[in-house]
Amino acid sequence: MLKVDTILHPSEEEIVYLVDTLYNGFYGFEAMTKRDLNSVICGHCGIVGKVYFGDGNEKNCCTIKNIILGKNEAEDNVSLNNKATSQACSTDNLTTQDTTNQIMDSDDLDKLTSCLNDIRYHLLEKCTFAKSKLPFSINIEDIPPLIPSLMRAKELNTEVNKKSIYLKKENQSGVEGDAIIMSKLLRQENISIKDIDSMALELLIDLARSCKIKTAGKSQDLLRMDLRQLYATILVGSSACHEFVKSPGHTGGFYHVVCPHGTTVCSKFMVLTESVRDAADLWLSLKYPPVIFICDTPCTFVQHINHRDPVSANEYWGDKDGCFETPTINRTPNQGNNVPYITPTEFQSHQEQQIDNVFPYVHPLSKEKQRYVCGDRFHTKVNPHKSPLCLYHNINLCQQGFTIKTSYQESMNNKKNRRRNRSSCTQDILHHIFYNFLMNFYENEEVVIKQKKDLEKVSKSVSRDQFMRFII
Ligand SMILES: [Zn+2]
Ligand SMILES: [Zn+2]
Repeated sequence: MLKVDTILHPSEEEIVYLVDTLYNGFYGFEAMTKRDLNSVICGHCGIVGKVYFGDGNEKNCCTIKNIILGKNEAEDNVSLNNKATSQACSTDNLTTQDTTNQIMDSDDLDKLTSCLNDIRYHLLEKCTFAKSKLPFSINIEDIPPLIPSLMRAKELNTEVNKKSIYLKKENQSGVEGDAIIMSKLLRQENISIKDIDSMALELLIDLARSCKIKTAGKSQDLLRMDLRQLYATILVGSSACHEFVKSPGHTGGFYHVVCPHGTTVCSKFMVLTESVRDAADLWLSLKYPPVIFICDTPCTFVQHINHRDPVSANEYWGDKDGCFETPTINRTPNQGNNVPYITPTEFQSHQEQQIDNVFPYVHPLSKEKQRYVCGDRFHTKVNPHKSPLCLYHNINLCQQGFTIKTSYQESMNNKKNRRRNRSSCTQDILHHIFYNFLMNFYENEEVVIKQKKDLEKVSKSVSRDQFMRFII
């Protein structure tokens, strides 16, 4: 048997040196290679996918070091009672429209490209020199979502708005009342949250009761506080129907939107704990939001968009709230709704005609503005939704539900093979961003190459149409 003399074993420092050199070398070479997410867009969906699935993965995270959390967002380190904190967010905290929708699209600069360029510089420096000069750090709001430029209208990252002075950490999950009903009532009655300040006691009690907030023995001020808190959960994006988790000292994880064919459409790095804001950032960034979006908190997602971007919400679903009909309190939803154009392309018997002149908000394939948001709780009854209005988001309420479930399962099977981080990660944000960019690219590339090969069996000339779909 061959045995190496222990004197010849490399020392621990030598091993560390070799590991570092290989690690930095790998990233250095990857950084030098030109890659564009636009070249690996799903050939079936193109940029106009009809069905997308959203899913958060808190395990794919990295250390929070080197992320500048900003003045009012030092999370675990800053007390929410801190005077500066309250001044920073009290005035705008409960406005209905979300000004941060413009945060990342205020100038022409492509945030993803400029962030990746910065990362490349650091990775090449680490690969070339024994010591790097500048440590890498990034502002929480400068971490761009990963979306191919052809698929996006914006690059939203409103991570900083996940906190509210009305929601202290410890009571965020125990906020009293039904936020979904509150959101609906405010919209229906055209009441702004600011009106609560001047509302008479009887009206306050009435509103609180309708929102399932206990009113007995509560002062006017306390009722106002309860209502404000409940409203803040909608803006922050926390959900009573789904508890989001995150490990301390780490980022909140990775949220990704995938298509039925297993490509990642877009994804977002979550620094703070996941909320429906993450799905909303991506959904609102897309040039063509899918006709139907499946996620685990459709109820909270829709209400969040209603208050964050009421103009788009009105165009996309009006009072239907992403459901197949208008959700109505104290009524059970209708079964068997027929929405033929949400059938995924692979289940369709005919090729559909797209429209070439796309009007704002209209989806080029359905030719309509109407969008649907449904739940992915296909097989779990463990974690039921909290509001009666959540029932309206059930995918089974439409006849096409089964085709979507099938494509969901296929997409998830595909995702199983993904090699992303597990919770005990030691990655820093620099490598974390680049690693996930590479993984999005490679995994999509694998799917797209196979799609192309399959089509080439039929015809040698495979190209892309105006919406980046493969045509022969
Ligand atoms: Zn696809
Ligand atoms: Zn719900």
